[in-house]
Amino acid sequence: MTAMTMPAVSHWIDGKPRPGTGGRFGPIFDPALGRQVRSVPLAGEAEIAEAIASAAAAFPAWRDASMAKRLTIMFAFRELLNARKAELAELITEEHGKVLSDALGEIARGQEVVEFALGFPHLTKGEYSENVSTGVDVYSLRQPLGVVGVISPFNFPAMVPLWFVPVAIAAGNTVVLKPSEKDPSAAIWIAGLFAEAGLPPGVLTVLHGDKQAVDGLLEHPDVASISFVGSTPIAKYVYETGTRNGKRVQALGGAKNHMLVLPDADLDLVADSAVNAGFGSAGERCMAISVIVAVEPVADVLIEKIAQRMATLRVGDGRRGCDMGPLVTEQHRDKVASYLDIASQDGATIVVDGRGIQVDGDPNGFWLGPTLIDNVPTTSRVYTEEIFGPVLSIVRVASYEQGVALINGNQYGNGTAIFTNDGGAARRFQNEVTVGMIGINVPIPVPVAYFSFGGWKDSLFGDVKAYGAAGFHFFTREKAVTSRWLDPSHGGINLGFPQNA
Ligand code: NAD
Repeated sequence: MTAMTMPAVSHWIDGKPRPGTGGRFGPIFDPALGRQVRSVPLAGEAEIAEAIASAAAAFPAWRDASMAKRLTIMFAFRELLNARKAELAELITEEHGKVLSDALGEIARGQEVVEFALGFPHLTKGEYSENVSTGVDVYSLRQPLGVVGVISPFNFPAMVPLWFVPVAIAAGNTVVLKPSEKDPSAAIWIAGLFAEAGLPPGVLTVLHGDKQAVDGLLEHPDVASISFVGSTPIAKYVYETGTRNGKRVQALGGAKNHMLVLPDADLDLVADSAVNAGFGSAGERCMAISVIVAVEPVADVLIEKIAQRMATLRVGDGRRGCDMGPLVTEQHRDKVASYLDIASQDGATIVVDGRGIQVDGDPNGFWLGPTLIDNVPTTSRVYTEEIFGPVLSIVRVASYEQGVALINGNQYGNGTAIFTNDGGAARRFQNEVTVGMIGINVPIPVPVAYFSFGGWKDSLFGDVKAYGAAGFHFFTREKAVTSRWLDPSHGGINLGFPQNA
C-alpha cells in the first residue's frame, strides 16, 4: 500500500466519525515497524468551523443537563474504559511505540482522573451567606465556560486528553480535542467510548490537525479556554496568542528533570529509580529523569550500578514484552541520537551508547537504545536542551548547595527528585527548590488525580494546573448572586452606592 492509498482516521464531529475533506493529510507510523500504517486528516478552515459550531450548538443543553445525568454518563464511561482498556493500549503501542504495560499504565492514570471527575458535584458547590444586609442574601455558583479547547502532545495519547476531558465535560462544558497528529487514534477511540456511554453528540469533538487547527481554536470567538500540553516554545505561543484573544489558557510545556543524589542515599534504590525513570517510555515522558546530579563521592559507584542495570534492558517491539520500545518517529530518533555527537564534541564521556543496539523487533523500527553520558558540561546543549529520549546525563557536583543552585538555575521546573536518607535535607530541598512537582525518594512524582499536575517556570504558562480541584476551577467560573425578596419597607430611590444596613 502506498502512502497515498493509506486508510485515514476520521475526525469525530456531532457524535460520529467525519472523514477529513480538507485535502491535507499527515502520516501515522508504527514506530516499531518503521513504516506508515494510516494517515490523519489535517483540518482546514471548513472542518475547524464545523467542529466548533457543533460544540457550540451542544453547549446549552449540556450545561443544563442535570448533575445526575452527567454523573451517570461519566460512570458508564469509567466502566467501559476499565473493561476495554486493552484495546486502547494496543492502539497506543501501535502508534506511539511504548510497550503495552506502559500503555496500560497511562490509561490507569487517565482513569484516575475520570474517577476524580465523578466527584464533581462536590466541587460545584458554592457558598451562601444569609442576611448580609437586612433581608439580603449572597451566594456563589460555579458555571461552565462554554466550548473549551484541549490540545495534546504525542507522548501520552490517552492520559493527557483524560487529564482534561472528563473534568471539562463533568463541569458542563463542551470540548473540542485536538490530539497530536502523530498518534491520534486513541482520541477517536475515547470519543467513541464516550458516545457508547451515552454522551450526547457535540459534547466531545475530536478535530485532527496541525498548526492550522491550533490557530483555529486560538482565534475562534466561540472557544472560551485552551488547555495545551506540549513543548515549551509552542506552549508559550499558545499562551500568548490565546490570552491575547481573551481566552483562559493553561499551557503546560517541556521539562528537564533533575535527580539530586546525596552521598547518604541508598545507591541501589537510586540506580533502579534512575533506570526506570530515565528509560521508561524511551524517555519520552515530561516527568522522565534526564539529569542525575551526583553529589560526590557517589558518581563512580552509581554509574557502575546504573550501567549494570541498563545491560539487562530488552529493547524492542512493545507487543513482545520488551522493557523499552522505539522512539516515535525516525526524525525524532535522529534528533535524539544527534545529542550523542554533541556530547562527544563537548568533552562528555559516553558510558553506554544506545546507537546500533540489538533489538527484539523489526530492523526498520525507530530504535535508539538506553544511553548514559557522564561529565556533561552544564554549558553543553545536552544539558541545556530537552532531549526527550532515552538519554541520561550525569553532572557531578561537590555539595547539596551546588546541586540545588543548578536545578534552580534551569529554565524548566516541571519535576525533580531528591534521593537521601536525611529527612532534614529532604525537607530543606522541598522548601528551596523552584520546581512544581517534587519526589522524595520517588523518581516520577506525578501527583494523583485529586492533587493537580503542573510545573513552574517554562514548564507551565498560566496560573492553573491540570486536574484536581484547580483543574475543575479552570473549567468553571464563579458567579456571585445578591438576592432580596420583595419587601415594601425597602422601596424608594437612593442613588448612593449600596451599603450594608
Ligand atoms: P509539540 O509541542 O510538538 O506538540 C504539541 C501539540 O501542539 C500537538 O497537538 C501539535 O499538533 C501542536 N503543534 C505542533 N506544532 C505547532 C505549532 N507550530 N503551532 C501550534 N501548534 C503546534 O509537542 P510533542 O512533541 O507532541 O510532545 C512532547 C513535548 O510535550 C515535550 O516537550 C514534553 O516535555 C511536553 N509535555 C509536557 C507535559 C507537561 O505536563 N508539562 C506533558 C507531556 C508532554
